[in-house]
Amino acid sequence: MTHVLDTAVREAALPRHWAWRVEVRPRRRTLGLDVLPDGMIVIAVPARITPAELTNALQDRRLWLAKAVRRRAELAADHPAKDLVDGEGFTYLGRHYRLLRVAEQTMPVRLHGGWLQLSKQAGGPEIIEWYRTRGQAWLTERVRSWAGRIGVAPPQVIVRDLATRWGLRTRDGSVVFHWATIQLPPDLLDLVVVHELVHLVVSRHDDEFRRRLTIALPDVADLESRLADAGRRVWIGDLRATPF
Ligand SMILES: [Zn+2]
Repeated sequence: MTHVLDTAVREAALPRHWAWRVEVRPRRRTLGLDVLPDGMIVIAVPARITPAELTNALQDRRLWLAKAVRRRAELAADHPAKDLVDGEGFTYLGRHYRLLRVAEQTMPVRLHGGWLQLSKQAGGPEIIEWYRTRGQAWLTERVRSWAGRIGVAPPQVIVRDLATRWGLRTRDGSVVFHWATIQLPPDLLDLVVVHELVHLVVSRHDDEFRRRLTIALPDVADLESRLADAGRRVWIGDLRATPF
């Protein structure tokens, strides 16, 4: 029975990166959906449900499910708040740096001698702006490099705050990335870039999307689980104390 029901769930064509399991609950009369803290979707079905009913019910509740999965991911987030004091840790392209407050310098923020130097007059907004401009240069270069391989014209690249998203496409065909992505290691940045570029060809997360993604990045499943993990702990601009 479970095997037939698993097939019925696959028929509903949910996004491939969603983890789910079917549990038959003899006393249930209706379908129940629950998203566990680790993102696992538990599909609780009554004993007498038919595969077609299950497929239809999941398709009907797909939007609700997408919201529930996203809400879970946000709840599980563990974004740190930073103190702008000597020794505070910051990440850039997957490498760790310590903050060093320095007397006035030409640039409010710079990487120097293994330290992330922050001018005494500067604060959180300057660090975010530093990440943003570094991200703009890096992501523009990666987009140009990947676009040819994926078979799309390099789109315009915008880097800004995207709240809880890594990237998106605008209606005029630009790609937008969160400034916080530049903290990730380069292979995870590539995943974010390739994901958005493949969306320029295939808008939905369907089989064709997964196929193209896998051609570009054969280890995509591994990268996605690493991104889910690293992404929860990325700094998104919260400060514990004001620098003044
Ligand atoms: Zn997507």
